[in-house]
Amino acid sequence: MTDFPEGMVWLVGAGPGDAELLTRKAERLIGEASVVFHDALVGPGILEMAARSARLVHVGKRSGRHSKDQRTIDRLIVEAALAGEKVVRLKGGDPAIFGRATEELDACREAGVVIRICPGVTAASAAAASIGASLTLRGLARKLTFVTAHARAGEALDLDWARLADPDATLAIYMGKAAAPEVSAELIAAGLPASTPAALVESASLPGERHFHTSLGLLPLAARTALGDGPALLLIGKAMAQPAANAGTRQPAALTAAGLAVGKVA
Ligand code: SAH
Repeated sequence: MTDFPEGMVWLVGAGPGDAELLTRKAERLIGEASVVFHDALVGPGILEMAARSARLVHVGKRSGRHSKDQRTIDRLIVEAALAGEKVVRLKGGDPAIFGRATEELDACREAGVVIRICPGVTAASAAAASIGASLTLRGLARKLTFVTAHARAGEALDLDWARLADPDATLAIYMGKAAAPEVSAELIAAGLPASTPAALVESASLPGERHFHTSLGLLPLAARTALGDGPALLLIGKAMAQPAANAGTRQPAALTAAGLAVGKVA
């Protein structure tokens, strides 16, 4: 029996960008779909896995207009399924991590549409792989916290900084580029040393990948001066200490002045 009958929806994780980081199941489901709803963070080559006859629908959201757009997406997905299509809703990374999956799951279930999730490689895993680091570290980073630093326009971040300032944890901060100054200041104010290792990884697993090692105190400067327009993840904690082998590499003066060590500049 097929796991993808007509009228069903699969919420599929597209991974961090590199098409090879897609699961085999995701690849098969994309190939079987009659319609694929995708957003902007789906890597190159992935949409080409869809059948020639499949409809590809870009439903990328612009920040600041999330809630209304999300309802429209929910409605489009449900309508397609009720019309008998085989629907793939493709989302960057893992659909269940900062992916608004709940809204789409609820909308389908309320309409009596069967929806299942195919997990994907989340950005934090790809970012750690890029810098050759482990997100957890025996005895030093026993905890891994995924947090989003996305705030609505004009609003302050509503995060429990005292809890986040845990010296024995690794913080993986999604959507944190704009909030880097606030993240740094609040974590330091809550007691995390300014010298805590931090890494910035932009476009992990994609051709334009860039990564930088810095410290919590210098994170704002690093985010402002080193990053481009790609999606970026902030990683903070002892486990992000720069590997000794790279520490002596000669770095461009402008970047070392900003407290940055360059991994790879594509
Ligand atoms: N569901 C996704 C996250 C969506 S939120 C996942 O599991 O990865 C979008 C945020 O994810 C971006 O703002 C950025 O912080 C992060 N992100 C997504 N792709 C990334 C990539 N290739 N490199 C670095 N960060 C990425």
